[in-house]
Amino acid sequence: MPERTFYDAVIVGGGHNGLVAAAYLARAGRSVLVLERLDHTGGAAVSGRVFPGVDARLSRYSYLVSLLPPKIVRDLGLRFAVRKRSVSSYTPAVRGGRDTGLFVGSDEGATRASFARLTGSDREYGAWQRFYGMTRRVAERVFPTLTEPLPTRAALRARIDDAAAWEALFERPLGETVEAAFADELVRGVVLTDGLIGTFAHAHDPSLAQNRCFLYHVVGGGTGDWDVPVGGMGALTDALADAARTAGAEIITGCSVTGIATDGRTAEVTCAAGTVGARHVLVNAAPHTLAALLGERPPEPAEGAQLKVNMLLTRLPRLRDPDADPRLAFSGTFHVAEAYGQLETAYRQAAAGALPAVPPSEIYCHSLTDPSILGTDLVRQGYQTLTLFGLHTPARLFTGDDPDGTRERLLAATLAQLDAVLTEPLTDCLATDADGRPCIEARSPLDLERDLGLPGGHIFHGDLAFPYGTEADGDGAAARWGVATGHANVLLCGAGAVRGGGVSGIPGHNAAMAVLECG
Ligand SMILES: Cc1cc2nc3c(=O)[nH]c(=O)nc-3n(C[C@H](O)[C@H](O)[C@H](O)COP(=O)(O)OP(=O)(O)OC[C@H]3O[C@@H](n4cnc5c(N)ncnc54)[C@H](O)[C@@H]3O)c2cc1C
Repeated sequence: MPERTFYDAVIVGGGHNGLVAAAYLARAGRSVLVLERLDHTGGAAVSGRVFPGVDARLSRYSYLVSLLPPKIVRDLGLRFAVRKRSVSSYTPAVRGGRDTGLFVGSDEGATRASFARLTGSDREYGAWQRFYGMTRRVAERVFPTLTEPLPTRAALRARIDDAAAWEALFERPLGETVEAAFADELVRGVVLTDGLIGTFAHAHDPSLAQNRCFLYHVVGGGTGDWDVPVGGMGALTDALADAARTAGAEIITGCSVTGIATDGRTAEVTCAAGTVGARHVLVNAAPHTLAALLGERPPEPAEGAQLKVNMLLTRLPRLRDPDADPRLAFSGTFHVAEAYGQLETAYRQAAAGALPAVPPSEIYCHSLTDPSILGTDLVRQGYQTLTLFGLHTPARLFTGDDPDGTRERLLAATLAQLDAVLTEPLTDCLATDADGRPCIEARSPLDLERDLGLPGGHIFHGDLAFPYGTEADGDGAAARWGVATGHANVLLCGAGAVRGGGVSGIPGHNAAMAVLECG
């Protein structure tokens, strides 16, 4: 039960962003209540012992960190760290009938040699250097703005101060830029994938959803690097929940919010534990959920488009590429069936209502960089985790009579693509749980909707927005910080805010700043 009847702020949802907002507000002396419908905090940023009797604490949903500003870690005194990966990606390929692959990583000489081996010249490596030099300069300018009041489009453009970069990332469909910069089909695909994570779009989509998704994948930390959360994603959520509680916030789990009523000055929040009053309500749930809680007409439903698979292996599988060490290849993002044409075909098939025949996916092994998520016995025996994130499988494909059968068919087709680049089937490497079942679980968008309350299973609560304000945002503190709703004292503090998606804490921070600005 809540300790009070009235709070300065009630936060609907204890995802990592709700906890960031709670910690900032409680540290500023505000009375804060967090209400979370699940029996634990963290939302999509959690670790879990997924397989019965197996001591492996997997980052069950989100798994890599790029967008979390060090400022938030410092401000809140979080005991949380990330670790760099020396290999950022590996992509297997067949050239001239031979198995080969592309390694990209911090070793420039090795990366250059890998490009040359794959493509036969230095041209693509040069293009890569120029392209990611451009995104890095944009990242350096954009990332610091994400925890400042929302710039206007013109102000952000002036800050980037590079007309070609602006045009490439903010104006023209990403496909045009990728095709102009790169000639190789595989290299083009590796670049494009960052625009398609959880985002159902194609390279030339006029909505530019792929550009927005791409931008959030290349600006994090001012570098675009994706780092490994030490201890798994749950370590971040645990640190945030500690920070919020230590600062005096109350957190009640297993408590679903069922309604919000507001007159713009004070609000009433109804939940499983009764009704509490609040000066401000911060909503960590998706905008679609918020509309239902307010009794308003929901916005267009969001739709997720990914398959998420968690696995535990007794050993890493061997690769067909004779030059690739699995311990290096799986420590970065391992791309499967993500050549440019394959991505396009998969999109077209899914848009026409069919599962992609050759499903694209990306894979990564956490335990190579951070074995602390495994029990010591498993580490000693050489066990490894494997995460797979599949693209272009929108929620609509799972709404038929047999969603479980559809998910299983997709899983089989996805693993077949992985097997095609291995010298042994992946299933031979799967560990078994205490009941003798293979350690593998798969989640469709509909599963994520049910498990996490994500409308349509959309991992970002809805398609991402460019990180600038528009006149439609209105004025006032909430609009200035990109967290406004149609009600002055109801603010978004989760992924659905402008500058919201990913594990970043940014919308939580920005909602807290907006509340504090109101005095
Ligand atoms: C499979 C998957 C993989 C991903 N991979 C990555 C990755 O590697 N890196 C990355 O940066 N991002 C990744 N993301 C995206 C990222 O995890 C999310 O964008 C981010 O976690 C959103 O955080 P949030 O706190 O805003 O919302 P959420 O994590 O969605 O939390 C919202 C919380 O609100 C609660 N809630 C909802 N309705 C109610 C209600 N009525 N009453 C009370 N509580 C309610 C929910 O239970 C939930 O706990 C991934 C997401 C998924 C699903």
